[in-house]
Amino acid sequence: MLGMADYYSTLGVSKDANETDIKKAYRKKAQEHHPDKNPGNKEAEKQFKEVQEAYEVLSDPQKRAGFDRYGAAGAGFAGGGQDFGGGGGGQGGAPGFNPNDFGNFADIFESFFGGNGFGGSQQGGSRKKGPERGRDIETEITIKFEEAVFGTVKHLEVTKPMVCAHCSGKGNEPGTKVSTCSQCNGQGQVRVTRQSLLGSISSVQVCSKCEGRGEIPEKVCSVCKGQTRVKQAEEVEVAIPKGIEGGTTIRVKGRGAAGTFGGEYGDLFLHIHVSPHPKFSREGRTIFSVETLPLLQAVLGASVKIDTIHGKVALKVPAGTQPGAEFTLKGKGAPSLKSDAMGDHLVTIQVKVPEKMTRKEKELYEQLATEAGLEVNKGFGIF
Ligand SMILES: [Zn+2]
Ligand SMILES: [Zn+2]
Repeated sequence: MLGMADYYSTLGVSKDANETDIKKAYRKKAQEHHPDKNPGNKEAEKQFKEVQEAYEVLSDPQKRAGFDRYGAAGAGFAGGGQDFGGGGGGQGGAPGFNPNDFGNFADIFESFFGGNGFGGSQQGGSRKKGPERGRDIETEITIKFEEAVFGTVKHLEVTKPMVCAHCSGKGNEPGTKVSTCSQCNGQGQVRVTRQSLLGSISSVQVCSKCEGRGEIPEKVCSVCKGQTRVKQAEEVEVAIPKGIEGGTTIRVKGRGAAGTFGGEYGDLFLHIHVSPHPKFSREGRTIFSVETLPLLQAVLGASVKIDTIHGKVALKVPAGTQPGAEFTLKGKGAPSLKSDAMGDHLVTIQVKVPEKMTRKEKELYEQLATEAGLEVNKGFGIF
């Protein structure tokens, strides 16, 4: 985390900058610090990431308001939860989860399994304790730019409590008997009566002998020690829909932790990050790129090939195209989660002024200058 990051100064905009200013500043900074333009430059890489993060926050009115009020933490950076596959709000999805707080997968699981994981919680027992649903698990994945546009299928290994295969999640050693608890007669609870000044008060408590289960195994499972679950790695296949954007969370039903005593599995919440593309950037369905044209093509016009996520596309650049001119390539952008229709590709034209030229070229340029009535340096001094 950037801690005391000031996203405004990262992008070089003022606190009252509007959406357009922020977008422009972001595109400029992202180009400038792009890893491909600064190969092996760690500082540029760091700045590039900071620019990405700053933009992710400042381009989202809600996160920006949070940042204005509380700083980076208030932006709930990377928090925007979206729910797939489940319908309704992701239940138990730990709203404050911040993937940046975790270094890697191992850390994540450590923090989830650290505390009250196994064994189930001790709820004030008014009923016999039955199977309990497993916890939700959260993890994150970084996918390629193209994968986010076109969708992909990912296989991840998730380490989590799984049903113990040895006892099939029953908790007793296979082949041994389970008997009804003698203390509670299989009720899982006992009624305790106390005398007080107001008369006798009776209350129901969880049976201490069977811990509310109503049954006592003759011998607990030798693998899970009666916990019914063991920590294991599972390969999970996740279909990542096309048009997804970084910061989105996918809910994969039933791929969280196993429940206890045959309870259903929790869900897996997968936070999506998208790695930057060397050439393209994206906002929703719009993809952006910058293309550099030789001066003469900008002056005279030309049909040029523009790289898009869908391959090269011919663009007719008119004569007299100015540096910074933008052209729209219809339908060459990205789809969204809601629509298969492709957005547009916006290409910004940069013009490359020749630095080196042949004697002949220089003469021709000098003739042009004379024709235009412009005073210029002549001769070969500037080579
Ligand atoms: Zn009991
Ligand atoms: Zn077992």
